[in-house]
Amino acid sequence: MAKAKKEKEKSKVKKTPSLLNEKSWAFLKNYINTPSPVGFETGGQKVWLEYIKQYTESQFVDPYGTAVGVINPDAPFKVVIEAHADEISWFVNYINDQGLIYLKRNGGVDHQIAPAMRVNIHGKKGLVKAVFGWPAIHTRLSNPEAKEPQPKTDNLFLDCGARNKKEVEALGIHIGSVVTYADGYDELAYDYLIGRAFDNRIGGFMIAEVARLLKENKKNLTYGLYVVNAVQEEIGLRGAEMIARRIKPNVAIITDVTHDTQTPMISKIIEGDVACGKGPSPCFGPAVHNKLLQFVQDVADKKKIPLQMRTVSRSTGTDTDSFAYANDGCPSVLISIPLRYMHTTVEMLHKNDIEQTIQLMYETLLALTPKTNLNYI
Ligand SMILES: [Zn+2]
Repeated sequence: MAKAKKEKEKSKVKKTPSLLNEKSWAFLKNYINTPSPVGFETGGQKVWLEYIKQYTESQFVDPYGTAVGVINPDAPFKVVIEAHADEISWFVNYINDQGLIYLKRNGGVDHQIAPAMRVNIHGKKGLVKAVFGWPAIHTRLSNPEAKEPQPKTDNLFLDCGARNKKEVEALGIHIGSVVTYADGYDELAYDYLIGRAFDNRIGGFMIAEVARLLKENKKNLTYGLYVVNAVQEEIGLRGAEMIARRIKPNVAIITDVTHDTQTPMISKIIEGDVACGKGPSPCFGPAVHNKLLQFVQDVADKKKIPLQMRTVSRSTGTDTDSFAYANDGCPSVLISIPLRYMHTTVEMLHKNDIEQTIQLMYETLLALTPKTNLNYI
């Protein structure tokens, strides 16, 4: 009896059909597993362009590798949806006589997670596997008086198997070779995904899916839509700065990741209350255009998409700032997706948030027109 009742209740819960299909998930997996280090994003950008080509009328790439797909390229009113393509990484900086390799950061890569990690060194002859070496617990603790070493950029080193500098160089590794972590995409229980550099290639995935939905649902926009996958965000929002000046958009909708604040050692008092699985997280902040944000909130309200609002002080720390302040001021809004363990190799996302962030951008674009009143006064 109890079981029958339960089953009856279950059938009443209408599951909304997924916006995403097999092909979408295959693209995401491939895209996440393709390294795109800051300043060297070409690999990922090629994968992304190949996908976006089917859903946009034209595409172009700027001198530093920012990739753009355009719908209605001749329209005078221009709207951007944007994400950043680059992933944090390391640079080979010094090779010692024993063939050990010391690094410099390329973006805010986390030194605390490095010991014992597997990496790929992007050398002239292709990828070279290596590991972050670290003294064994036995040798660390053999002197009880000594303090445990903490991983820092100047004591972290890579071991690729070479035993002198010559052997390192023979593998095609040079000063300036970039290094990425080897960990890739995986799935956990309850619709969680993990991967390296979901920050922010999940954004690149989401804007591409928005373009796909517009095309497949045969939606006509009254403006030109520029789907922008910008390079070099992680070192100061630089790719966005360049492309904002080139496109000169009238409106920009940016997507990036934000911190889920439900796990230990994060202060909700400081970081706000955001949880994976509970919807997109737009923010208030001076660079965020108040009327455009209200417009997005109204769309969410109408479409019953839950939002987790938060605030930023001074800047958003995302490409939103670049778009807002480029040119003569471009009304810009940031729609972030909650993520756990940012800048580690196990960045974690919830599938619901991916779907709802895509839906929110999509519905916002459908509601927006060149006549949408964004005047402050
Ligand atoms: Zn980041």
